[in-house]
Amino acid sequence: MSVDARGKLVVYVGPMFAGKTTALFRDAAAAPRACIVRPARDTRGPRVAPPPGAEVRVCDSLAAFAADAPPGAVFVDEGFLFDDLVAGADALVARGVDVTVATIQYDFQKRWFENVRELAARPAARVVVVAGACATPGCGAPSVYTRRTAPAAGRVAVGDFYAPACARCWRAPPE
Ligand SMILES: [Zn+2]
Repeated sequence: MSVDARGKLVVYVGPMFAGKTTALFRDAAAAPRACIVRPARDTRGPRVAPPPGAEVRVCDSLAAFAADAPPGAVFVDEGFLFDDLVAGADALVARGVDVTVATIQYDFQKRWFENVRELAARPAARVVVVAGACATPGCGAPSVYTRRTAPAAGRVAVGDFYAPACARCWRAPPE
C-alpha cells in the first residue's frame, strides 16, 4: 500500500465544555458519508445533536468497529473512553479511512490520558487544540484543564461535577 492511500488523522483536544463535539459534528456534517462512533461507556450520550444523515454507532471497541467499518469518513467522539483508541485509529487510517477524533487530553488532575497522548504523537496526526472559557466567575480566560468540583471516586467518573478551568484557576477537587 502506498503512503498516499492512508487516511487523514485529525485530533481535537481540549477540556470539557470547550466545543470539541460541536467541531467534530461540524466536520461530520460536511463529509459525504460520515459515521460517528461513540463509546458505550459514555452512558449520557452527546449534549449536541449529531448532524442529520450521519450514521451513529455506539460500541465498546474501536478496533472491532474498524475491522468492520462502513465506507466513508469516521468521527470518534469522547475518544479517551476507548481503551483501544490508538489501535482502532491506526487500523482505520491504514485502510485509507479519514479519521477525526474529539477527546479531552487531561484528566481532572492535569495528567494526560495515555491513549490520547499516544494518538496525538502519531506523526501523521493533525492536533487541533480547542479552548473554551474558564468557568470561574469573573475569569473567562481560555480553558486548558478540566476541574472536578465535587469528590468522586475514580479517574473517570460520570456526573455533573466538572468545570473548565484556566491554568490559574485550576484546583484539586475537594476532599
Ligand atoms: Zn480562570
